[in-house]
Amino acid sequence: MLQILTHLIAQHEQRLVLVAGLVGFAACFTAFRLYSRMRGAKGVVRAAWLLLTGLVAGSGVWAAHFIAMVAFDPGLKTGYSPTGTLLSLMIAVVFMAGGFAVASAQRSHTNDLAGGLLLGVGVAAMHYVGMSAFVTQGAVLWEHATVAASVILGVAGSTSALMLAGRARSVTRQAIGGGLLALGVGLLHFTGMAAVTIVPDPSIIVPDQLLSGGMVTFAVAAITVLVTLGGLGAVTIESQTSRSALDRIRRLANAAYEGIVVVQDGRINDVNAAFCVLAGAESQDLVGKPLFAGLMSFDSNEESREGVRREGQLQPLDGGRAIPIEVFARLMDDGARTETSGLTVLAVRDLRERRSAEEKIRYLAEHDGLTGLPNRNSLQSRLAAALDRVEASGESLALICVDLDHFKEANDLHGHLAGDALLVEAARRLQDSVTAPSFAARLGGDEFIIVQIAAGDQPAAAAELAGHLLEALSVPAIHEGQPLVMAASLGVSLFPDDGRTAEALLANADMALYRAKESGRGVYRFFKREMDDSIRERRTMARELRQAIIDEELIVYYQPLARASDGEVCGFEALVRWLHPVRGMIPPLEFIPVAEESGLIGQLGEWVLRRACADAAAWQRPLRIAVNLSPLQLNQPDLPKLVHEVLIASGLSPHRLELEVTESALFKDYQRALDNLRRLKALGVRIAMDDFGTGFSSLSTLQSFPFDKIKIDKSFVEDIHRHDRATVIVRAVLGLGRSLDIPVVAEGVETEEQINFLRGEDCAELQGYAIGRPAPVENITIWTNAAAPAETAEKITPVRRSKRAAA
Ligand code: C2E
Ligand code: CA
Ligand code: CA
Repeated sequence: MLQILTHLIAQHEQRLVLVAGLVGFAACFTAFRLYSRMRGAKGVVRAAWLLLTGLVAGSGVWAAHFIAMVAFDPGLKTGYSPTGTLLSLMIAVVFMAGGFAVASAQRSHTNDLAGGLLLGVGVAAMHYVGMSAFVTQGAVLWEHATVAASVILGVAGSTSALMLAGRARSVTRQAIGGGLLALGVGLLHFTGMAAVTIVPDPSIIVPDQLLSGGMVTFAVAAITVLVTLGGLGAVTIESQTSRSALDRIRRLANAAYEGIVVVQDGRINDVNAAFCVLAGAESQDLVGKPLFAGLMSFDSNEESREGVRREGQLQPLDGGRAIPIEVFARLMDDGARTETSGLTVLAVRDLRERRSAEEKIRYLAEHDGLTGLPNRNSLQSRLAAALDRVEASGESLALICVDLDHFKEANDLHGHLAGDALLVEAARRLQDSVTAPSFAARLGGDEFIIVQIAAGDQPAAAAELAGHLLEALSVPAIHEGQPLVMAASLGVSLFPDDGRTAEALLANADMALYRAKESGRGVYRFFKREMDDSIRERRTMARELRQAIIDEELIVYYQPLARASDGEVCGFEALVRWLHPVRGMIPPLEFIPVAEESGLIGQLGEWVLRRACADAAAWQRPLRIAVNLSPLQLNQPDLPKLVHEVLIASGLSPHRLELEVTESALFKDYQRALDNLRRLKALGVRIAMDDFGTGFSSLSTLQSFPFDKIKIDKSFVEDIHRHDRATVIVRAVLGLGRSLDIPVVAEGVETEEQINFLRGEDCAELQGYAIGRPAPVENITIWTNAAAPAETAEKITPVRRSKRAAA
């Protein structure tokens, strides 16, 4: 073997062998570059690339063979037959193109193997056809085993080249492929040469017209170099343009706000910068990873379709929280490149911002802006869900209506900011008093709802919570260092006893709340069926009252007021009555609240005012007429206009009209009430403070407006001499009137004793059964007529007569 080798080396011109090796390698490497391009192309472009690959590989290999042959010097005259030489070139080109075509037909190892085999066979065929064109002055003898070995070596080189680097993208791996192919070719060539023995035979004549070695060498080398350079140039230009195109695309992709990820067979092929940020990883850590195994998932299982938006989750690799995403998928296919076919481009949009905006909107829609509690809207849905829940679970449910006591007063007295602070604080305390699944909600204003879902027995559980709530809401709230008094009334309804629907439970809890307020506030009341009945009664009454006003079933009675000093009647108070066709005479204390509740009070009050003014205007003596104003009336902005109009219509002189208001009427809307009072007073009308002593009875109320009269409530007058406290209060009010210079009237005066006491205490006027009972206008003519016979008076008011006698 060593002998053969040394012999071979001795027989070859070594520089030329080196040239042959270089030419072979350059051609094979270029062929692999071209081959890689070819695989990425389709159609005509692909065919062109294949042709070029075959041309470069075939001519290069052939040229290497030929140069190596030229380097071979057996020491005899040699030549090459042109036909055989040309044929070997064509074989090389055809087999090379065929081998590469077969290898690239399908992505499989079988194809690579088959392609490699074809390449190897082609090289062998080229070599031995080329050898058959070799003519020398001697007999050429072949050693067949070595020939076979040469073929095996050639095939091994070409198949390993394709198997290892057939799909190479990097230049290095392509060089390895080229090197292996060139090595196979070289091994085949020299082993093949080793199989040759030339026995010199001078009888063999080498014809002169044959191609001579030195002559062809240059031509072959030049052509090959040109072809190879052409191929290399084509690849370089093409890859350069496609690289710059790729670079542009990548730059564009990286500039994109959305994450872009290219996927092939479920694995990440490429990603842009935005996707790296989303995924919390570098691009090299992502490429090659399966996309749907842990990294990305879709919310729905439906088949992914082109251009269809899907939502899902992205789990960042750095362990961050899963990101809600929106994904658009598009198949990448530019028609000419197979390298991109089967690639899917996913545009991945981060939905966190949108989700949080949506959440914010939902929160705002479902919660009360001031207190942050669920609002009326979401109460409906939450309550419905709670009812479904307890129906299924068998837990108990209580609905508690919470209403802050005297909230309006506090709001008026301390301002809206303080009112808001009070609501926020109340909401916080309510919230703190319940634990999920129970919850608190705000209905609006100072009304809250608690929905209690409890395992415990009812009504015990609700009673316990209600007691706790009352306690929590009884502690004053601090606003800007000032304590604000807080208190609440509660109404409770229970599921299913008091209703099975949200509406029924709400309505009944509200009714219970109404009762709680009526029974003095600061308490809780459970709903009872009777409440329902009484409410129904009120509704009936409201309906009938509406008709009664139209049908003139109302009557005004007049009760006299007398000067305490001499008992002389100086005016009347108009007191409304309802002569119900079935129920008979209904007292105002029964129907005035209904009128206020149902909004009829405005109409009713106007009717009384017109009647009283018209009656009084018809009296012969210019006595004063007092008319009661309900709190709601006092808050009507057009009240002064109405009074003015009634005065003009009736012709009553304004100073004869006295309007009675209660302290609570001022608290509804303090500013508006005061404003109305001032405008009324400007008309010349007198204003009296009614029922003094029952409300706040604050000095500040009396000071806030120049009242013309104070009426001490009859409950105190009644208790004169019976309770020391009442006596003290009456004295105090009379003293207050004196110091503020406001005349005081005592109501409900029934006895001689009371008259004497009040007269002694300097009370200005007296009103009560002792002076005269309320009576229809036709029964009071003895006082209203200029000169009335004394006998008539005796019939109506016997008490008064005795009083007169006393005076
Ligand atoms: P008020 O303004 O305090 O009227 C006095 C009430 O005391 C009247 O009851 C009168 O009948 C009663 N009264 C008078 N003297 C005595 C007495 O010596 N002893 C006793 N025990 N009671 C006496 P009435 O007429 O039932 O009216 C009750 C309330 O209804 C009135 O209280 C007033 O607040 C309201 N009211 C009456 N008429 C009207 C009206 O036209 N408009 C408005 N808004 N309220 C009215
Ligand atoms: Ca009154
Ligand atoms: Ca009164």
